[in-house]
Amino acid sequence: MSVVVVAIDGPSGSGKSSTSRAVAEHFGWAYLDTGAMYRAVAWAWLGSGIPLEDADAIVAMVRRTPLRITTDPAAPGIAVDGTDVSTAIRDPRVSAEVSKVSSIQGVRDELIARQRALIAAADGGIVVEGRDITTVVAPDADVRILLVADPGARVARRAAELGARATGAEVTDQVIRRDRDDSRVTTFTEAAAGVTVIDSTYDDLPTVVGRVVALVEQTLAEEH
Ligand code: C5P
Repeated sequence: MSVVVVAIDGPSGSGKSSTSRAVAEHFGWAYLDTGAMYRAVAWAWLGSGIPLEDADAIVAMVRRTPLRITTDPAAPGIAVDGTDVSTAIRDPRVSAEVSKVSSIQGVRDELIARQRALIAAADGGIVVEGRDITTVVAPDADVRILLVADPGARVARRAAELGARATGAEVTDQVIRRDRDDSRVTTFTEAAAGVTVIDSTYDDLPTVVGRVVALVEQTLAEEH
């Protein structure tokens, strides 16, 4: 049987990660956080000393850097060349710099190829979340969702998540400025044809998860 692919895109603070993990757990499927892959290569770049202007050297570094990403939704994690960076990639410094690296097309090409290989290797089903999954990585996914929420709700969620680890200015930078930079290279502010928009501004996590699960079940019933 072929693998069921659920693609979920959205801006930061839209609730994509929590929703995607919960949906994957519900169906007993794998979960792929593509943002963690961009964060991991940004972490590697920050420690590399390569100037941002040298895009070719950054692409070469990314191509030779082994990433090991765990696709178990109960225990997601990522390692760069054997070093567990699951916590380090959430550091505000990485959040502040990641868009610089993710906007380099050669970096994207390399990570997109690895993401497609991970999707192809899944067993049963996989929920994949990011910014370009519904449009570029897996445009033929069985279910394609754009998860949105008003900026105020997204900033409040990110602030609650980061707590004392980030100042108010850092939180706003992580949500508003980062989305502006990211939307130069990926289209996640408007839904492409065939993509279902789910607005989570006024809904809690279980409600949003329930809506995605219902959509997946409906699609699977129609496919069979
Ligand atoms: O989802 P998350 O906020 O962890 O993503 C971190 C960064 O990775 C984003 O700000 C964006 O620059 C990049 N990204 C991307 N394409 C994706 C997923 C993430 O460019 N599919």
